Amino acid sequence: MQSKARGFEFSPHPSFMIKDLAKKAVLRSGMLKLSAGRLGPNAAILMYHAVQADPSLHADLFGGIAHSEAVFRNQVELLAREFRPMSLSEVSEYIRGNGEMPKRSVVLTFDDGYADNTETARPILNQVGVPATFYATVSCIEEGILPWPSRLRYAFRSTSLSEWTDTENKRWTLRSPSEREQAYLASCDVCCKLSGRAQDAFVARVAKELETCESPEARGLMMSYDQLRALVRHGHMIGSHTMTHPNMAYVTSDEARNELTESKRLLELKLGVPIKHFSYPCPALSPHWNAETLAETGMAGYETAVTTDNGLVRRGNNLLCLKRIRPTKTVEGLRWNLESAFAGRAG
Ligand SMILES: [Zn+2]
Repeated sequence: MQSKARGFEFSPHPSFMIKDLAKKAVLRSGMLKLSAGRLGPNAAILMYHAVQADPSLHADLFGGIAHSEAVFRNQVELLAREFRPMSLSEVSEYIRGNGEMPKRSVVLTFDDGYADNTETARPILNQVGVPATFYATVSCIEEGILPWPSRLRYAFRSTSLSEWTDTENKRWTLRSPSEREQAYLASCDVCCKLSGRAQDAFVARVAKELETCESPEARGLMMSYDQLRALVRHGHMIGSHTMTHPNMAYVTSDEARNELTESKRLLELKLGVPIKHFSYPCPALSPHWNAETLAETGMAGYETAVTTDNGLVRRGNNLLCLKRIRPTKTVEGLRWNLESAFAGRAG
């Protein structure tokens, strides 16, 4: 889950459509590919979350983080046709300086551990021949519950109350979708600093205050260990996305260590494969990692860790804070983000 995807979705303004036309003209001109040739070898690590046949069905749980299956298929086909998909392990070797990074390298990653990753995304990836890395939120896998941002989002969207008072006695009115969103985001700023039982207690308290229950659709949306094992059998890699999805820069070092080591230990125990890769959650507040986090990640034995910071990776980068690129929700948007990133422009 990531902060930018939490808001409600709005219809595009005409000015966006003009920008789209301008982007298409730049793409057609080949200008970006010419600029890309002047930069050194680099790779784009793409950050996905959920892939669903109809993302609007679970919008009260997932917000805007789900890709439609049809768009995802077209994006994967674009990547295979116009770019160079490879595994995170291969790219990490190039970053270490072992071999020359092929041009236009892309890596697919998925955060959180949703069941649709294996039910919907995996068959497409395997048909097209694209490997991916899936980062699992281990407590959510163990308990079959969605990460806390989804549980809080559902509480704020489904409550029939028109008001909520936060932990600092600030009153929030909940009369419109945007008021509910603001209150939800305020609750995220508190919850992201909590982990484990304290986090569970906070989510339960908010749900009680808002007089809501768990969504009847929420069960079965996280992967099982069997599904994670199936991903490994199909040639993909599993990484950790913590135990309970806190902001790792805001929890204590003991909590951060537990999130890193316990999730690694459990995944290795249940899957029987070494877990070398980590993804820092970005649920709310900034930053979502710091120097202390990186030190803990290294000490826990991870070889790579990805952030939600925007950008490409290249030789010599710190493997414990690798940048990623957002794929956007359209094929042309993905092409633009990649071409402009490879050309050294803002995405
Ligand atoms: Zn996440």
